[in-house]
Amino acid sequence: MSIEVQAVSKSYGNQLALNEISFSAKKGEIIGFLGPNGAGKSTMMKILTGYILPDNGAVSVAEIDVLTNSMASKAKIGYLPEQNPLYLDMYVKEYLQFQAAIFKVQKEEIAMVIEKVGLTSEVHKKIGQLSKGYQQRVGIAAAILHNPVVLILDEPTTGLDPNQLQEIRELIKELGKEKTILFSTHIMQEVEAVCDRVIIIKKGELLLDKSMKDLKDNNEQLIEVTFDYKLEEQFIQKLPNLKSYKNNFDNTWYITFESEEDMRPVIFDFAQENGLKILELNSKNQSLETLFKEITSS
Ligand code: ADP
Repeated sequence: MSIEVQAVSKSYGNQLALNEISFSAKKGEIIGFLGPNGAGKSTMMKILTGYILPDNGAVSVAEIDVLTNSMASKAKIGYLPEQNPLYLDMYVKEYLQFQAAIFKVQKEEIAMVIEKVGLTSEVHKKIGQLSKGYQQRVGIAAAILHNPVVLILDEPTTGLDPNQLQEIRELIKELGKEKTILFSTHIMQEVEAVCDRVIIIKKGELLLDKSMKDLKDNNEQLIEVTFDYKLEEQFIQKLPNLKSYKNNFDNTWYITFESEEDMRPVIFDFAQENGLKILELNSKNQSLETLFKEITSS
């Protein structure tokens, strides 16, 4: 396993930031680490990178124990913190050479990294002159200079404009071909666009850990339907493949089905057979966005 986290807990004083979190990542996986503000994402990332210690639990990266062998594990990890720590007065190349010296990285490798992250046209500029998107590239370049197997990116796309966002997502995907990447975000669409797997945490609790494939293969259908009459619950219960239902407004029902078959025609037939009229029917695709809202709203 590239990343192995077992029952990790961490409190800041009385504030519990992580409660017995466990997950693992296989080589080459891109994992989206999703959660509202204050969920504990940064705390988990700081623990993985050896910047802070957990109160309990075990953490290893590339089979190296982060808690007892932090120097060796740091060599395997690249980390871009949320506040990209750049020296704005330095030139791009100068900064990367400075960073490379810390890890004793060869000159040729610096050139390769510059090309890989798409910084070739900007290397002779001062970091402060670059757009936010290019500054993120510099941060990512610095994080991968020592060729780590695991890359940890804390909210790498926050504050980027739509074009830059797209470019950084592409870069993450590209890097994910050879590295295991864990990146935090609160943008659901980003996870859908980039990741192989999603982990959702909230208030320090792990709420979901699933592959995107499993999420997409999900046969759940959420349908919002408004009839012309107020129906009794027993009536709704006659529908086949029913998983759950909720009646928020008088004649409107939110019905979840577990079925491979499209349930919309079934509902139309059901209405007709029972002398009802459908005033409105919407299929609410169980996208990650709806799932995320459902999971984190309570
Ligand atoms: P996220 O990255 O998901 O926004 P954090 O890991 O930053 O979440 O924070 C998780 C919880 O821990 C929050 O309630 C936050 O206020 C608290 N916290 C984080 N860092 C500190 C700190 N250095 N001191 C005290 N509390 C902290």
